[in-house]
Amino acid sequence: MGAPAAFTSSADVGHFIGGEAVAGRSGRSQAVFNPSTGAVARQVALASVDEVEAAIASAKKAQPAWADVPPIRRARVLLKFLELMNAHRDELAAMISAEHGKVFTDAQGEVARGIDILEFACGVPQLLKTGFTDQVSTGIDNHVLRQPLGVVAGITPFNFPCMVPMWMFPVALATGNAFILKPSERDPSPAILMARLLKQAGLPDGVFNVVQGDKLAVDTLLTHPDVRAVSFVGSTPIAQYIYETGAKHGKRVQALGGAKNHLVAMPDANVDQVVDALVGAAYGSAGERCMAISVAVLVGDIADQVVAKVAERARTLNVTDPMDLKAEMGPIVTAQARDRIEGYIGKGVEEGAQLVVDGRGLKVAGFEGGFFTGGTLFDHVTPEMTIYKEEIFGPVLACVRVPDFASALKLINAHEFGNGVAIYTTDGGIAREFSRRVEVGMVGVNVPIPVPMAWHGFGGWKKSLFGDMHAYGEEGVRFYTKQKSVMQRWPESIAKGPEFGFPVSK
Ligand code: NAD
Repeated sequence: MGAPAAFTSSADVGHFIGGEAVAGRSGRSQAVFNPSTGAVARQVALASVDEVEAAIASAKKAQPAWADVPPIRRARVLLKFLELMNAHRDELAAMISAEHGKVFTDAQGEVARGIDILEFACGVPQLLKTGFTDQVSTGIDNHVLRQPLGVVAGITPFNFPCMVPMWMFPVALATGNAFILKPSERDPSPAILMARLLKQAGLPDGVFNVVQGDKLAVDTLLTHPDVRAVSFVGSTPIAQYIYETGAKHGKRVQALGGAKNHLVAMPDANVDQVVDALVGAAYGSAGERCMAISVAVLVGDIADQVVAKVAERARTLNVTDPMDLKAEMGPIVTAQARDRIEGYIGKGVEEGAQLVVDGRGLKVAGFEGGFFTGGTLFDHVTPEMTIYKEEIFGPVLACVRVPDFASALKLINAHEFGNGVAIYTTDGGIAREFSRRVEVGMVGVNVPIPVPMAWHGFGGWKKSLFGDMHAYGEEGVRFYTKQKSVMQRWPESIAKGPEFGFPVSK
């Protein structure tokens, strides 16, 4: 593969409302950085209440006609969008790398996993098929409809600016809703490109809108009576706030939060496979993944070998500009996030964990102003330590040593988060027991990052998800539709005279 073209536009990023890209009018904006150089790359508009309300009004106006389009024709618009997304894969990936800092091949993977969900949503005629019961009583039939909610909103995090919105809007649009996306203000550009491509695919104006912004935009969406449902992905405190505020305002809410994902290495596991899994899942995307492995639970005498081999790899990670195809890890999204991560490393040392590899203060030649930190490895971490309890969201792996399987399970089940987890073992019985007993929403058996496929649905347990339904898959279809039951009969089967008893099958 040749070097991909970098995304270098310095144009300000605005909104997409009523089928048009529009500049911000609020007078408020925020810098978007190039995390490799530390320079301000462009500005993103921060919407006012009026601008968000304009997007809601435009969505409300467009939605009824879109809901009346037969599902197969809605699917054809999405199929055209799929074609365009495939044609623009690398452009999107370069945008993601430029604003987020993840390496280009990782960004390509993000786009590909988003496209999986679009492909799933293209099957919407089948997904909306419901049940019909003939003759529930003489001359009476009963069937079910799944109808769209109306205007729905998605509020998304910085770490997957393409894939996480695509967990939401393909399913929401396919099922006949109008959608308002509020992307992260740290990497706002992919949302606008996707909006343009949806328009090009033939989506009617107003059915998909993007408002850039901060808390003000979010609060406007959360409290507006015309927004029927909110999907959120981000950190746990904000997820909880979104869930509570949205519910208080009568909305359906799914709010996916933070994580602390463990990988258990059993003594019978293949050491090199465990090391590969830990290095990729802890340091890939600089640990800025909600499914990143941040805790290695080393059972019995496998520990010394794993720590030594991960340390060797962490020290020699190729950390550089994400558009360099040899890069294994890019910069952190912002200087503030980098400083927070390095602050946690200091805290780990203070609280007595053994710092085996220290990634702090990394300088990359040619990119001295970039927000880089290296891979960090701690050993002898205990459950009371801050670096064990809290989500660091950076390339920091904490190793906890435990004597046996039961202690590993107990440790994980006591943690407040329950997003993803993995076990490495060659023992099928242990793997089965682990999968059944672990209190975590997504489990990998010899798979370090078990992100469910498009038709299975994504969601954690405990403080990693507020709400009942997971993102995408069948649960996504349920989330964006409401069920209506219709019972019908025709005049010739209606008996004469009123019935005062509660209706029963006759
Ligand atoms: P974040 O919570 O800071 O921001 C997420 C969204 O909420 C953004 O659009 C942001 O503008 C908005 N927001 C931020 N503060 C707000 C406030 N006070 N009021 C209203 N809205 C606010 O998260 P982030 O830093 O962008 O993303 C990283 C976090 O997301 C991590 O905690 C990570 O684990 C989590 N995440 C979870 C999943 C999952 O599936 N569970 C997936 C990806 C990321």
